[in-house]
Parts: sequence; C-alpha cells; structure tokens
Amino acid sequence: MAAPHDVIVVGGGPAGSTTGAFLARAGRRVLLFEREEFPRFHVGESLLPATLPILERLGALAAVAERGFQTKYGAAFYDQESAIEHTFYFLRGQPWPRYSYQVRRADFDAVLLEHAAKQGVEVWQRASVESVAFDPDGVTVSARHDGESLSARARFLVDASGRDGLLATKLGHRERIPNLGKVALFAHFRGAERARGRDEGNIQIHVFADGWFWWIPLAGDLTSVGCVMHARTVREWSRSLEALYGEMIRRCERVALGLVGAERVTEIHRAANFSYTNGPIVGDRFLAVGDAVAFVDPIFSTGVHIAMQSGELAARAIDEALADGRFTAARFTPYQRTIERGLQPFFRFIHKYYEPAFLETFMRPRTRFVLHAVLRVLSGGAFLKMGWRTRLALEVLFAAARVNVWVRRRAGRPVESRLEW
Ligand SMILES: Cc1cc2nc3c(=O)[nH]c(=O)nc-3n(C[C@H](O)[C@H](O)[C@H](O)COP(=O)(O)OP(=O)(O)OC[C@H]3O[C@@H](n4cnc5c(N)ncnc54)[C@H](O)[C@@H]3O)c2cc1C
Repeated sequence: MAAPHDVIVVGGGPAGSTTGAFLARAGRRVLLFEREEFPRFHVGESLLPATLPILERLGALAAVAERGFQTKYGAAFYDQESAIEHTFYFLRGQPWPRYSYQVRRADFDAVLLEHAAKQGVEVWQRASVESVAFDPDGVTVSARHDGESLSARARFLVDASGRDGLLATKLGHRERIPNLGKVALFAHFRGAERARGRDEGNIQIHVFADGWFWWIPLAGDLTSVGCVMHARTVREWSRSLEALYGEMIRRCERVALGLVGAERVTEIHRAANFSYTNGPIVGDRFLAVGDAVAFVDPIFSTGVHIAMQSGELAARAIDEALADGRFTAARFTPYQRTIERGLQPFFRFIHKYYEPAFLETFMRPRTRFVLHAVLRVLSGGAFLKMGWRTRLALEVLFAAARVNVWVRRRAGRPVESRLEW
C-alpha cells in the first residue's frame, strides 16, 4: 500500500507541533494526531530564552509575542534553611535574547498547533493513536477519532506523545532515574504578591525542608504555584491532597506570605513520576522527540526547550532521510547522540542541586566565569553546544561544591543529599 503521507506525528504538544511545522515548511506531507482538543491544560509554564530563536526559525515568534505572555528576565532561587538567595538575570549579547516568557500552556500550545496547521500540517484533534505497525515500506497507524476507528499510512513515524511515551510503552522500555520519583501539586492564584519592574516575571524557586516550590508569575495577575515533593510524602499523607498542598504552603514561609489575600482560581493539579529516560529513541522508520525521549526534573524549566529543540533536529534528520529514501535506525544515531549529549548536563545539575553544599555554592557564584556558564545552562543555550569555557567553568563550580561539602562537614552542617526528601 502506498503511503499518502510522508510523516505521521503522534502528539500535538510543543515537540509534535514543532517537528510537524518544520517538516511542512520543508514541503513534506505531515499528518498529526492529537488525543485532546486544544486549548487543553498542561503543566510546564516557564520558558527559556534559547527557545525564542527556535520559535523565530519556525516562523511562530510573532504569533507567540502577540499573545501578551508575561516577560521573564531571570530566575530567583531561595533556600529557606540557609536564607541564601540569588537572582540570576539572563545575559545580554548571546545568540538568544535576555528574556523569555511565562505562559499558560493551554494558550502557548494552541498557538503552536495552529501555526503547524497554517504551515500545512493536517491536524486531527480528539484522535488517539492506539497502535502502530511497521513494515518494509512504511508504517500503519490506527487511531480512534470521536469514537470511530481510523487508520493512516506514512513513510515515517514521530513519537511526540509526551510522558505517555507511546513507542517506549509498546516496543521498548522506560528507565526511571533513582531518587527522582517526585510528585507536584500546583494551582493558579489571582492577587498573589507581584514584584515590580523587570523582576515581575522572574520565576522563583523556594527550597524548603519538604521539597521545593515554583512561583511563576503569569500575565493577567495570575501566578502558578507548585510544590514538588517526594512521592513518599504523598503516600504517607492520610488527608486530602488539598490539605497537603495547604500544609506545604504553610511550611514554606515566603510562599505563604506571598499568597496572603490571594484567591485560588483553579483546582489543585497533580503530576507524578518525574525523571526517566525512554528507549528506543530511534529505529527503522521512527524516532521520538520531547518528553517521549526523556524527562528531567523540572527545577530548571527545561522541558519545552528540549521538546522544541529535539523537534527541530528531528525534522532536519527526517527531511534528509525522505530526500534519499533511507530510513534505517543507524542514520538517526547522530540525532540520538545530540539529544543525549544535550540532556547530560541537566541530569548532572539536577542530581547535584539536591545537595545543600552544591546549592549553596550555586547560589553564590564567585566569578563571572562561573556565573556566565551557569547562565548559559539556565538559558537553555548549552543544550545544543557547550563550548570548552562553559565546560571548564562548570567543572570549577562542581569542584567548589566538593570543597564546600568538606567545609560544611567540619562546621557540623548537613551535607546529605535532599534527594531522599
Ligand atoms: C511538575 C512539572 C513542571 C514542569 N515545569 C516546566 C517548566 O516550568 N518549563 C518547561 O519548559 N517545562 C516544564 N515541565 C516539562 C514540560 O511540561 C514538558 O517537558 C513538555 O510539555 C514536553 O512537551 P512534549 O510535546 O514532549 O509533550 P506534551 O506537551 O506532554 O505533549 C504530548 C501530547 O501528546 C498527546 N498524546 C499522548 N498520547 C497520545 C496518543 N496515543 N495519541 C494522540 N496524542 C497523544 C497528549 O495529549 C499531549 O498533548 C514541567 C513538567 C512537570 C511534570
């Protein structure tokens, strides 16, 4: 059977719509199935500056800018135990701007999916993919759309199904990262405390004895407040999730203070099962993008950036494969390596971040050399390419953190990782 489409994309989140739109812009025939009807709620509201150039290359930056999302110039970290705080402001003079956006994902994802459709992607919403079958000439996808079964064929398949990890579930495996099994409870508030001027849109990360909170100021006086805690805390809690969320707010003093007089305007959402890597990422006639590849603990707000960057790289690799008609797994190995290399610093940072000695060193950057390297990582700019200066500066940071372990130990201060929260 001939394949009427070049590519079928499963999932219309940032990874799927980015891959689809780039391929359509290259003249490819793309069919995209999305289970939900957009706009749909999604977690993950703080974007990184290095995402903006991708939006520009995609031709979607103007559409995003027009939505009036809150501008974000930096990230403020505060450790309740030591009372140390530091605000990182994104650098000028980089290949990406010195700001990014805080977005309601329902709106942001809808803009991207609409954009993909405008580029020529055939988008089917309320269409859930149930199975995929590969053969030497292509792939057959079976889906349910509004209760009806349908099937479609293409030469190539992109798994952009997010944390569902369609292909990993059906053909492969998911490896959970030890100790990073966490649960987030989060909601939106109106009337929460608001910083002034350029600090208004900063994301705030509040680390406290039970976990950490994100505080994301959104446009229209909305603030997203989320608590990330160990899955065990939730398991051992005998009352309602609402009561647990309220109790965590009470224990994190700055968050409690900032919410005085604020009104919760959404239900309390729950997201579980944080960090994992999936496999296989590439195969004969398929590859995965975004959360379908891996998920890194959200402390550095990296998810959407990785989703869109992997989407752009994937589209390039697939376009080349379509051009010469060869779709073996081997030709997608460079794509896989780039993604794995890009993810690696984030995994390293995240493990260290839960160590008090590292957190303390991280929040007191002593040289511009180290500070700039940290900012490159926090901007998302180190995902594709990490120069030797950044590498070296990060080694200096990790070495300083090791010295700090020793200093804290001698002073009788805790050094154990808080991964066991
Ligand atoms: C608690 C928490 C906080 C986070 N905070 C941030 C943050 O501040 N900043 C940030 O950048 N990231 C954050 N993230 C991560 C971010 O949410 C994800 O990395 C990002 O959404 C990944 O995009 P994606 O397109 O790969 O997947 P998704 O956005 O999840 O999109 C996948 C889509 O596939 C669809 N789908 C799934 N299965 C099927 C199927 N069988 N058929 C058809 N459609 C299907 C789904 O409906 C969904 O729309 C956070 C994540 C968590 C859990």
